[in-house]
Amino acid sequence: MEHFPLFVDLRGRTVLVVGAGLVAERKIALLRSAGARVNVVAKAAHPRVLARALSGEVALHLGGFEPSRLDGAWLVVAATGDALLNSQVAEAAAARHLWCNVVDDAERSSAQVPAIVDRAPLTIAISSGGAAPVIARRLRERIETLVEPAIGALAALARRKRAAIRAALPHLAARRRLYDWLLDGPVLPALRSGQEEHAETLLDDALLGRQAPPRGKVLLVGAGPGDPGLLTLRGLRALNEADVILHDRLVSDEVLALARRDALRIGVGKTPGEDHEATQRRIHALMVHHAGQGRTVVRLKGGDPLVYGRGGEELLALRAHGIAYEVVPGITAALACGAYAGIPLTHRALADTLTLATAQRHAGAGHDDAPGSATRVYYMGVERLSGLCQRLAQQGLDPATPCALVENGSRAHQRTLHATLGSIAGQARAHAIQSPALLIVGEVARLGRQLAWFGETLSPEAPPASAALLQAAAA
Ligand code: SAH
Repeated sequence: MEHFPLFVDLRGRTVLVVGAGLVAERKIALLRSAGARVNVVAKAAHPRVLARALSGEVALHLGGFEPSRLDGAWLVVAATGDALLNSQVAEAAAARHLWCNVVDDAERSSAQVPAIVDRAPLTIAISSGGAAPVIARRLRERIETLVEPAIGALAALARRKRAAIRAALPHLAARRRLYDWLLDGPVLPALRSGQEEHAETLLDDALLGRQAPPRGKVLLVGAGPGDPGLLTLRGLRALNEADVILHDRLVSDEVLALARRDALRIGVGKTPGEDHEATQRRIHALMVHHAGQGRTVVRLKGGDPLVYGRGGEELLALRAHGIAYEVVPGITAALACGAYAGIPLTHRALADTLTLATAQRHAGAGHDDAPGSATRVYYMGVERLSGLCQRLAQQGLDPATPCALVENGSRAHQRTLHATLGSIAGQARAHAIQSPALLIVGEVARLGRQLAWFGETLSPEAPPASAALLQAAAA
């Protein structure tokens, strides 16, 4: 081993940074995120370093470097553009047996800063010992995609519960099994969807011996238009968690090649002689069967699973059977084809509306001209919500049309407000919905009351009645 990896606790400890340019600023930011007390010495400072000094976040000394500046420091970073000065700093640090990192100079550094994957409290550090920082960085990118963010929250939970875990499971083997279960069981998915309290309850129950039997689930995943580079990271992770993959014909081989090797793969495209409804029933039965056996099923669809993919019907079937699910959106064909053909789908001067439509008609859906049968999605609407809703009503849209306003979609603190065209603006004010939010108008919005699986759902009013839609959707 050429370098000994070591994780140091810098909280409240002084680190001296010599230099205050942009390179130094990046190191200062990193040191501050680790809680270090940072002293900076430089003849001149970048505005960002100055701003940190003015806010009292770092102590800035404008002047030349003197070895006495090392007093009280635990670590030194030399980040000036002057190689000679950097050497002097490194030598002065060595004379005091202080570790010194000279930025981008492995030769002069006694300590090196690795490439980092931060999943606090978990940290993954990669170093090539200065031999090839680019390779280390590329490796870091790969690891970033493999280690999901919720792992950090899982480690934090394990830390909070460490004493309780020890007390409940005094034997090491039993603790190991518990930690395996933490990684493979339902706790991680709960954290992934932001349900910290539920995750904690699951762990508490497990410690009390009330562990529920492993439950299967279905991940409804959008595979994107075909280029595997357009699969999402979350989709890639789902493919690596899958016990069973049910895929459509539209899913490309390149995307399937990214899936876990030992997952059972079942092509569920329409078979010759089978009608569409029979295909769909077969898919529902397969999902329910495999998830019912406790397996993780990935239902993989081309593009986005909820755009012309019959994904809504699949979710309703899962809900009817009490099977847990998550939805991973994909890049839908419209967006991919626009991007890859160089066609901006909206343009300030040319187009302000984008409609996704199908050339096929489905018997259950409303007629072309019936204003209620279209889904309308409005971007940038929070401030203009009441004007927009009034305009739509004037255009003949029924004020009872279901609407959903999704705030912070897919992010922490997602909230979905369900109301009608006539009431949503008032409800949005009452619930202080803020930008970014997106308004979905149309009968499909009502399904969200049943199918929501992420974030908070606000339904201040009873759903508007429409038996016909629910019959059509569930059929
Ligand atoms: N859920 C899919 C759409 C399924 S319907 C999505 O969100 O993209 C199938 C139709 O999508 C095809 O008939 C074609 O019109 C379109 N489509 C899907 N992938 C495409 C691609 N790579 N290039 C062009 N069109 C595509």
